[in-house]
Amino acid sequence: MQECPDKKIDAKMSFLERKIIELTKCPDSDLAKLKHTLSRFKYDYKQKWTSANYKQERFLKNNEEWLKETLKFAIWSKEKAGRPTIEFAESSDRSKRRKTKGLREKVSAEELTYAAQMSQRAEGNKDVSKIIKNITLTPTRATKFRKVISSTKQNKIKKHTPSEDLAIFVEGDFSRRQWEILHSANKNIYPCYSLIQKAKKDCYPDEQSMTVTETCVEVKLQDLLNHISLRLCKYLEPVIENISKEEKASLRLIIKWGCDGSQQSQYKQKFESFTDTDANIFQNSLVPLRLQSETNGQIRILWQNPVPSSSRFCRPIRIRFIHETVDVTNEEIRYIETQTRNLNKTEISTTNGMLFITYKLLPTMVDGKVCNAATNTSSTMRCYICGLTSKNFNNLKKGVEVNPESLKFGLSILHARIRFFESLLHLSYKLTIMKWQIRSAEDKKIIEERKKISKKHFVTKWAY
Ligand SMILES: [Zn+2]
Repeated sequence: MQECPDKKIDAKMSFLERKIIELTKCPDSDLAKLKHTLSRFKYDYKQKWTSANYKQERFLKNNEEWLKETLKFAIWSKEKAGRPTIEFAESSDRSKRRKTKGLREKVSAEELTYAAQMSQRAEGNKDVSKIIKNITLTPTRATKFRKVISSTKQNKIKKHTPSEDLAIFVEGDFSRRQWEILHSANKNIYPCYSLIQKAKKDCYPDEQSMTVTETCVEVKLQDLLNHISLRLCKYLEPVIENISKEEKASLRLIIKWGCDGSQQSQYKQKFESFTDTDANIFQNSLVPLRLQSETNGQIRILWQNPVPSSSRFCRPIRIRFIHETVDVTNEEIRYIETQTRNLNKTEISTTNGMLFITYKLLPTMVDGKVCNAATNTSSTMRCYICGLTSKNFNNLKKGVEVNPESLKFGLSILHARIRFFESLLHLSYKLTIMKWQIRSAEDKKIIEERKKISKKHFVTKWAY
């Protein structure tokens, strides 16, 4: 009240009232309330001032206790603390600057930030409080925050890896031109064709391991297997990272392989040697089936071919323009078996230690013709497993000697059901004559009759 230039007590009181209104930013609607609170104080003050004979020293001494008391309107102004905040939020940037000028001059930035953090927390805005705390933790923190926020806004389009792009290219059966159109339409997503080419090249084994002539193309088995293992382990990186050292040293890749020949239409292709021709083709290929670890007799499967009968994972070993004969087939089998015997472990170094992979090759990708050739079964009427012919079929007493070597070819699951059913059907046709070969006209007639009955039964008894 000493600030007031007027000496009169009433004038001083009015000055005080104006000051309080200004400080509490009391809105007009609440002025009456404030004045009422103040009126009691004014009355008391005047009384005490008079009894102290207008002497400041005496006034202070006499009313020591009363002066320590808190005034009621102070509580009223605290209750209304929220109001000025709303008004602040609504005000313009310029007036915000003006309103906070005094505060900014008096208090340091650190204190203000801390105060802001604490009061946000007190008001229940935990996230705001936490972020303020976080970004002021170290001087570089706020920059990092901004970078992250702006990068998440921009980089909503995730770029593919080159192998993912190649997968799209292969799966979509794109041509180079189609891909280039796609690339020019959206360069952010689809990379240029040269990157696809590079990714494609990574899928091939080393150039030096391949031999190409006019009539033959081949890859060394060891090099091909090394390459398959390398690619597979790269793909399985997250799985292999987490296996033990013993498991890493005892990996085994199970592979099926086989060969077959076919005839094809001839092209006007000229060969250096006039005996060469492209009328026949003979191919030898393999399919990786499973990668497993074998430790102390315990087998753990790390990868399994999801489509073993598909050509997807099929890798050619040798393709030749040659007619499929018994000799050619046998030579082909020996060619692979010799290489299999001399196979070395594949060693792959990763960031988490070395991987050692051995191989198990199964010659199960074969047809009857190949099996017959491999087991020296000259007649197709003879069973390549037990060596018996159809004339022994009804003789159940005759002992069956199975050649264990012939079992390695397995039973093709591809045609097993058809073959078994075919066998049952033929048994049914020949049930009355009990002979494999039908020569006499009488037998032929009987068989025809039975075929008719069987076919009729299919329609009446089976077709439901
Ligand atoms: Zn047999």
